[in-house]
Amino acid sequence: MAERRGEILVGEGLVKKYPPRGGAFVRRGEWVPAVDGATLGLRPGELAGLVGPSGAGKSTLVRLLAWLERPDAGVVRLDGAEVWAASRPCDPATRRSVQVVFQDSASSLDPRQAVEAIVSEPLRVHFRLGPEQRRERVRELLGAVGLEGVGQGFLGRRPRQLSGGERQRVAIARALACEPRVLLLDEPVAALDAPVRGQVLNLLRALRDDLGVALLLVSHDLRTVARVADRILVMVDGRIVEEGLPERILHCPGQATTRELVGAMPVFSGDEGNQLAPKSVSSA
Ligand code: ADP
Repeated sequence: MAERRGEILVGEGLVKKYPPRGGAFVRRGEWVPAVDGATLGLRPGELAGLVGPSGAGKSTLVRLLAWLERPDAGVVRLDGAEVWAASRPCDPATRRSVQVVFQDSASSLDPRQAVEAIVSEPLRVHFRLGPEQRRERVRELLGAVGLEGVGQGFLGRRPRQLSGGERQRVAIARALACEPRVLLLDEPVAALDAPVRGQVLNLLRALRDDLGVALLLVSHDLRTVARVADRILVMVDGRIVEEGLPERILHCPGQATTRELVGAMPVFSGDEGNQLAPKSVSSA
């Protein structure tokens, strides 16, 4: 029911099981759920945060929401239409509306391609643009991710010749080149230093405001998510166990795991500062 509260992308009752680690010959009935009945929806123009401890199933959920893997149970809907209803999901135009940015852009970007080719590839595949228009659009997209005014030298660099922050911005620019309506970001700042992390998080907020896309920011770190998210979803053992405004999640966490995540947050300082510093939270 994607129409519910204007959600674009909805996952309902999603389940995904894998063989236990080191148990390749285990019968299917004994596979272990990585995602175990997760339900969530994303609205246009919101930046939702998905937080949970390592192993909670966040990355698996992202792969399900992006149709990179088929769920064992449950449905994914885009604009109300079930994406796995046919044997293969949707046409290319629909397919490009949901894009993912992964933590490790060093491995998700083709190491042999230069920046210009990386960002213009989706333009070539999805849109009928001439070479000159593509070049212009690449510059616009790089501008949108805070890399405005870069020279020809930058456009010719390979991913390994970029800093971590630049690589992540290029990965986001490539995703934006598809003109997505939903952008899923799986631990996009985990590998970045604090100041660069702050810049990329601010960029996500700007994308929400300027482009009106639905963003899902996934992190094991509640501090990262609370800094920018409009709404926080907490995932534990394959399920969404709690959902609410950042203020509520931080100051009045309803679940034991959420309290642990809040308790693990360091005291904010300097440019990583935030209005949402947690009050002391009892572990009761
Ligand atoms: P998170 O992103 O919250 O750390 P993951 O989705 O990566 O969690 O993993 C959830 C659980 O599923 C973990 O126990 C992980 O080992 C398992 N898992 C994830 N992907 C696979 C896979 N492809 N094969 C086997 N087990 C997997």
